[in-house]
Amino acid sequence: MIEISELRRIYRMGDVEVKALDGVTIDIIKGEFLGIMGASGSGKTTLLHLLGLLDDPTTGRIVIEGTDLCNLTDYEKTMFRLYKFGYVFQDYALVPDLTVMENVSLPAMLRKDRDDQKILDDSHDILKKIGLFDRRDHLPRELSGGQQQRVSIARAMVNKPDILFADEPCANLDSENSRMVLDLFREINEEMKQTIVMVSHEPWHQEYFHRIVKLGDGKVISDEINGHGK
Ligand code: ADP
Ligand code: MG
Repeated sequence: MIEISELRRIYRMGDVEVKALDGVTIDIIKGEFLGIMGASGSGKTTLLHLLGLLDDPTTGRIVIEGTDLCNLTDYEKTMFRLYKFGYVFQDYALVPDLTVMENVSLPAMLRKDRDDQKILDDSHDILKKIGLFDRRDHLPRELSGGQQQRVSIARAMVNKPDILFADEPCANLDSENSRMVLDLFREINEEMKQTIVMVSHEPWHQEYFHRIVKLGDGKVISDEINGHGK
């Protein structure tokens, strides 16, 4: 589904060069729940940002279903982000002055091919799925961290993206809320056949992943099917 070859991202700060990613080659397979793991500073976020078109590689190629992402114009990249990708961040990134329902419908409203009824129906459906339909008129701050993260997952899912990217989505949650979030990812992966790429450095999250790519110093140090997962 996504072929990533020899991806490099070098940050230059004055005379200092940081090789955040140093030649990463992996394929992402449709329908898998892939975990990107590794120590802090190993390049996980950099890789996720490159895959999600939130940053450009220094060199290397990313090909999604035949389209080379490096050849896209800025406008085409924006369309890709909006129509094909969903994002979940560590700090939820909900809009504080919008209700749960408004936050969830936002990506659907940005698209030109959704009428009001479709946006309402899709938003309601996904809010029911995450178990927060009855909280739809609340503001984010009136919810717990775990609930806010589930709202951000609903927002990422409302456009039924080809790929869902999540960067340490449980980093600010206790283990009980982390489990709820991971169980929700598992459910949408299994029931909605959603491809998920999730970054984590918590060893116990491994049990949720079908496959684990471990990074170290910007390189892939292992890429293994998870015998214990699923
Ligand atoms: P991880 O998510 O695994 O903790 P990152 O991808 O955030 O790792 O960072 C990989 C390396 O790149 C680290 O050494 C980090 O300090 C460096 N880095 C990340 N972002 C920047 C940036 N914007 N400018 C300079 N160096 C950066
Ligand atoms: Mg990171």
